[in-house]
Amino acid sequence: MKARLLLLPLFAPFRGRKLRSGQPGRFCSLAACSYKLRNVELHPLWQSSSSVTGGTKQSPIDIQARSSVFDPKLKPLSICYDPTTCLQIWNNGYSFVVEFDDTTENSVVTGGPLNNNFRLKQFHFHWGAINDWGSEHTVDSKVFPAELHLVHWNSDLYKCFEEAIMEENGLAVIGVFLKLGTHHPELQSVIDLFPSIKYKDAVAAFTYFDPSTLMPSCPDYWTYDGSLTTPPLTESVTWIIKKKPIEVTQNQLAAFRSLFFTSIGEEEKKMVDNFRPLQPLMDRTVRSSFRPLPNVFHFETKVKEHSHQQ
Ligand SMILES: [Zn+2]
Repeated sequence: MKARLLLLPLFAPFRGRKLRSGQPGRFCSLAACSYKLRNVELHPLWQSSSSVTGGTKQSPIDIQARSSVFDPKLKPLSICYDPTTCLQIWNNGYSFVVEFDDTTENSVVTGGPLNNNFRLKQFHFHWGAINDWGSEHTVDSKVFPAELHLVHWNSDLYKCFEEAIMEENGLAVIGVFLKLGTHHPELQSVIDLFPSIKYKDAVAAFTYFDPSTLMPSCPDYWTYDGSLTTPPLTESVTWIIKKKPIEVTQNQLAAFRSLFFTSIGEEEKKMVDNFRPLQPLMDRTVRSSFRPLPNVFHFETKVKEHSHQQ
């Protein structure tokens, strides 16, 4: 019974459901260390041995920008989403998930690090109780208040999402960081549905939405081979992490925190801190689609050396 409960991650098969189918870097301040433990206390997803794997390609990771390797062969992603493939939004007890009809090739991503077509299945977010944490990935130890994941499966190699999730090169997930800034009108159209999905298992129709409006215009990204960040934690994911965050307001982040992990009638637990802690990079390389910024310190040193010689 308990095991079944624990298998209700973002990626549980939707049986029985009719589908038409700008903060400074935080190094090791007390807050940055303690945030990693908060979700363990809050959600049953992480209270069993299923949250521990012996894997060598686990996610999320800290992306160390200067250690990433520029790969000139990495072209911009080609994203084509049909807004009419959007189906519904639901509270799955860990996040809110916007699901898409993936029975056709109408909403796909290809190009970039991908050699196949990947169909859009769903998107969801991870966020913190406060703005100091919330994202799953970090960049040079910098944590963002939230992170968007757009989940796609390889429709060239596999028959369906449930098959692809367990297999190599099965999934491509695009990650987008959220930071505090200006109001995001397209995200607001998702947030406006929250009153209907406050509690676990609530579902609402949402039949027209283009999630590419939630992406930054900058094409730059990092990519690496990793895993799902919820059980079954399979190492089937090509991660594509956008370099530029999108901006949202404090009120929009507050709306995320107004949802509940719990069902109607249960003791209410706010849906916050629904992220997995960082995992070791191990023997992996993070590639970037863009040239890293020049090392300013190194550059200044060279200029001084040069002026001494004159
Ligand atoms: Zn996710």
